[in-house]
Amino acid sequence: MEPKRLVIFGRQGAGKGTQCDRIVENFKVIHLSTGDMFRAAVAAGTELGQQVAPIMESGGLVSDEMTIAIVRERLAQADVVENGFVLDGFPRTPGQAEALLEMLGDRGLTAVVHLDVPLAEVTARMKARGRADDTDEGIAKRLALYDQETVPTIDWFSDRGLVLTVDGLGSEAEVTERLIKAISSASGG
Ligand code: ADP
Repeated sequence: MEPKRLVIFGRQGAGKGTQCDRIVENFKVIHLSTGDMFRAAVAAGTELGQQVAPIMESGGLVSDEMTIAIVRERLAQADVVENGFVLDGFPRTPGQAEALLEMLGDRGLTAVVHLDVPLAEVTARMKARGRADDTDEGIAKRLALYDQETVPTIDWFSDRGLVLTVDGLGSEAEVTERLIKAISSASGG
């Protein structure tokens, strides 16, 4: 069977981390998180790591150029080509989205999954988990940033008919079932 090539979007508090794990188990794809890649580069003290460390610390976005380069390198590796992937945290700008489709060429994406949970619900979930950075102000700020930077990228994919919106309300198992069904039936664009 053709490996799945997926992108997942979801607000903080939407359960994206857990559902990513389920997608990996189910479709045997490789989880690719640009945040993890950058953190690994920082930890390893590579040249890239030294460049991105201050950007990440200030909460800014790494340049499209550096981000696209790190993803391009990883997507070309044999394990990813053979098993497919679920991209998490990339693309984050329409420019990155365009570069992604260009690097995949004829293979394209199987689907872009949007794990949809209403703003009021993610706010309540984040407040309930009571993490130190989950102050009312902090939560509102991070959620607003998602609308500013990520929603235009989801819209970019929507315009190309690639987005599967999956209702993220309900139990973890219910959401997993919906996701697996949606991805299994996706043929890509
Ligand atoms: P968060 O969702 O909290 O931003 P991530 O783990 O996705 O966490 O990313 C951590 C940091 O890595 C981001 O704040 C940003 O600096 C950088 N980063 C990750 N992905 C991207 C991307 N696609 N484009 C630009 N910067 C990115």
